[in-house]
Amino acid sequence: MAYRKGLHEVADGVWAYLQPDGGWGWSNAGLVTGGDSSLLVDTLFDLRLTAEMLESMRRTTPAAERIATVVNTHANGDHCYGNALVAESEIISSARCAAEMEHLPPSAMAAMLDAAPTLGPTGDFLARIFAPFSFEDVPLTLPSRTFEGRLDLRVGDRPVSLVEVGPAHTAGDVIVHLPEEGIVFTGDILFHGGHPIVWAGPVANWVTACERIMELRPTVLVPGHGPLATPAAVAELKGYFEFLATETRLRFDGGMSPMEAARDIDLGPYSGWSEPERVVANVHALYRDFGSQVPGDALTLMAEMANLAE
Ligand SMILES: [Zn+2]
Repeated sequence: MAYRKGLHEVADGVWAYLQPDGGWGWSNAGLVTGGDSSLLVDTLFDLRLTAEMLESMRRTTPAAERIATVVNTHANGDHCYGNALVAESEIISSARCAAEMEHLPPSAMAAMLDAAPTLGPTGDFLARIFAPFSFEDVPLTLPSRTFEGRLDLRVGDRPVSLVEVGPAHTAGDVIVHLPEEGIVFTGDILFHGGHPIVWAGPVANWVTACERIMELRPTVLVPGHGPLATPAAVAELKGYFEFLATETRLRFDGGMSPMEAARDIDLGPYSGWSEPERVVANVHALYRDFGSQVPGDALTLMAEMANLAE
């Protein structure tokens, strides 16, 4: 299927909403319908984009008039900052995701971008990657229902399972599995065509999450970013993390800093993936997994990614 902006029907009454090019902030979402009801997988990074998506869903199916349930796959704003537009719906996330959302409100993003002109090259990087989005006056709308581990739902007659696979990309990652259709909405457990970014880790948990997705034997994966995928993309991502862990361990043992290690690693088969600056964040995550005390707060990671992206 072509990688075009908008809705793509991936099974009868099930759609992916894709936003090329899948880079920073350009996330995917999904709509699962059953009878006259529907479930939305994720909102988008701001209200304008989310409104545009909801409008295209209503034009496509009458079931989108009544979105009974929204699932936030994780707490990054590009998957939940549009929640205010579906505040009437039951909004479900993992408990860990809901807790993390409170610490990452749209107002914090707006404040960070306001401060960008004073942040040197890091500010230039942030201003550039987030320029297409608007975070001013976006209310924080938190989930109204949380769960741990697993939650089985129905949309009409259609079974839908929410499976918590984090902490990996973030503290509370969830995938949405449609067992009868063989479809998984992976959230940001799968970036397709770009480098993943490990905000939380451990990386081993992300590898396990890849294995769990493959065990479901899906036919279609809707990634958090990038074009529709098959399980081969998850196998490839698992290989990426195994490769990166091996390469990073050598440099950790050799006494390199995360930045030195990130610059030194030859990405080989993964060198064509977009957003290569994220490698330094992933190296930081592996250093933490190895027991390092090197500071790896979000601003440090942004500064080092900005440096690498130059
Ligand atoms: Zn995302």
